[in-house]
Amino acid sequence: MSETVPSSGTRRFRFSLQAKIVLLVLLCVGVPLFSMGLYGLRLNRELLQDKVHENLTNQLFRKSTEIDDWLKARIGDVKQWSATKFVFEGSEVLTTRPAREVNQARTDINEYLARVMGFYRTYDSLFVVNLAGEVIASTREERLEENVKRLLQPNISSEGVSPIFRSEWLGGRPTMVAYHPVVNRKGEVIAFVIARFDLDELESHLDTPVDAETAFLSVDLKDPSTLEDNLTNSTEPPSFWLLDEGGGIVAEAGKVVARPGERKFEGELPTANPLLGPVLERRIPGHGVSVYTVRRMEGAMPGFLVASMAKEVAYRSVEESKLRLLRWGLPGLLLILALTAYVARRALRPILLLSDGAKRVSMGEDVFLPASGNDEIAELTVAFNDMVSKVREGRQRLEEARDQLSQTNEGLRAANRTLETLAITDGLTGLYNHRHFQDTIDKEIRRCDRESRLLSLLLIDIDHFKQYNDRFGHTEGDAALRRVAGQIAAKIRSTDMAFRYGGEEMAVLLPSCGKEQATEVAEKIRVAVSTSTARSGRFGAKNTVSVGVATFPEDGRVARALVDTADAALYQAKAAGRDRVVQAGGPVQSDRKETAG
Ligand code: GH3
Ligand code: MG
Ligand code: MG
Repeated sequence: MSETVPSSGTRRFRFSLQAKIVLLVLLCVGVPLFSMGLYGLRLNRELLQDKVHENLTNQLFRKSTEIDDWLKARIGDVKQWSATKFVFEGSEVLTTRPAREVNQARTDINEYLARVMGFYRTYDSLFVVNLAGEVIASTREERLEENVKRLLQPNISSEGVSPIFRSEWLGGRPTMVAYHPVVNRKGEVIAFVIARFDLDELESHLDTPVDAETAFLSVDLKDPSTLEDNLTNSTEPPSFWLLDEGGGIVAEAGKVVARPGERKFEGELPTANPLLGPVLERRIPGHGVSVYTVRRMEGAMPGFLVASMAKEVAYRSVEESKLRLLRWGLPGLLLILALTAYVARRALRPILLLSDGAKRVSMGEDVFLPASGNDEIAELTVAFNDMVSKVREGRQRLEEARDQLSQTNEGLRAANRTLETLAITDGLTGLYNHRHFQDTIDKEIRRCDRESRLLSLLLIDIDHFKQYNDRFGHTEGDAALRRVAGQIAAKIRSTDMAFRYGGEEMAVLLPSCGKEQATEVAEKIRVAVSTSTARSGRFGAKNTVSVGVATFPEDGRVARALVDTADAALYQAKAAGRDRVVQAGGPVQSDRKETAG
């Protein structure tokens, strides 16, 4: 009775319900969780974007100031040297005296320049040119390029730095100079001091992040965390690009290019006002997608300074957060879903058992489900078991009623069969009765007609039966009737049929039987009755019978005609002296000695 529902039967249903719950949890927990995560990431990215922009702008501003200051310092260097006694006096000698008188002065300047060079690593060479741009003193063999010559104006304010350019004199190497006029006592420009830069120094400036010292400069003293921010920002330094006034690239990501100015920077450049352009994002060939900003430089070296950063570096922390979200969030969610699936499965188990139990009950099985706990499902299980037991009782009652009904039906069928038999049977002799004879003879005639067969009829009448009755009484008469009937039944085939035609008269139908053969049967019956050894009558009186034989179709094509013909033959037998068989249309022997009752 207490069967448990096998798990295999409930699996399909369980999955479906479980899946719904898991989906619900996914919607209620997973979606908000990930939306929040994504929102956080978005916020993070926006904050970071502000920070990156601020960082780039700050760095650019500081770097442009740093480079400007550096250039100004270089101009300051040449200015200082141009004003030294060695230089301006020597220059005066070298530019005004004949060549043979200048050797000492040249030596003095050269020695001075060489000494000065010793203090700086910034310069490749120092030299002095006259107003025609010819080198009159130098730390090494030098020549001034034509484009620099054009910059030198014979006035006292003609100072500055050249752009970075390819020097034909140095075999196409990029170079840059600072220049300052040498002025004599009368205030006339007589020569120029030229300092040729070692560009490594400039590159190292471009390459170096804004140093910690600069970071300190922008610290808000009331909020120490800004220092931390500044230093943190400095850990991912942008790279700096120098562009000439036309936007041609002079230094690319901190390195002076081989052909300065030939290639244009592929990005927007700010016009004069404001100096600083917006922070933009675009793909820069060779540097991937970059975040950059450009500032116009208007100081010693006009052009642009660009601070750029690879986008993936700038937003690395966002990418890392995204990865962290995936790395922790996804397994976390999977864990929640697995737990949900487990809890749902446990919680659903009684429902699944009920569902399976209901199915089995509907298939006619008897089920009892274990009810544990005291929740609604336990109540439902108890009610279910109750219902199942009521169904079981009802079914048992139904089965009992059905058995009774079938028994009754069987009794009725048997009674019907008895009734049917009784309806066609003669109560005294056990032969078929007269009514059945009428039904049968019609049917048999039709059938034999259809099948072209013969059908013979015997009409048998007990001789002098009235006297027999009178002598021995009706009870003996009845016994004699039964005995004769038995003797008739014993002499016919199973396919033949014997009837009590009426009174002491009997009929036999013999299908597929010709007249001669029927006469033989009649004769056998007659002999059997007349020679019966059974005790007959109170004094041993015997019975005899007379028989008339008629055959279909020759003696009658319908029942009535056939019966009449047989009856006529029977009458002839009686008339001829009884205890004999007479064929319809056949000869009748009348010499037989009559055997009286
Ligand atoms: P026969 O046929 O030889 O000409 O003479 P019969 O005496 O037999 O002729 P009948 O037909 O006149 O008499 C028939 C008698 O059979 C009348 C009746 O008393 C008797 N009988 C008819 N039915 C029964 C029956 O069921 N039981 C008894 N005991 N006698 C019957
Ligand atoms: Mg009679
Ligand atoms: Mg008779």
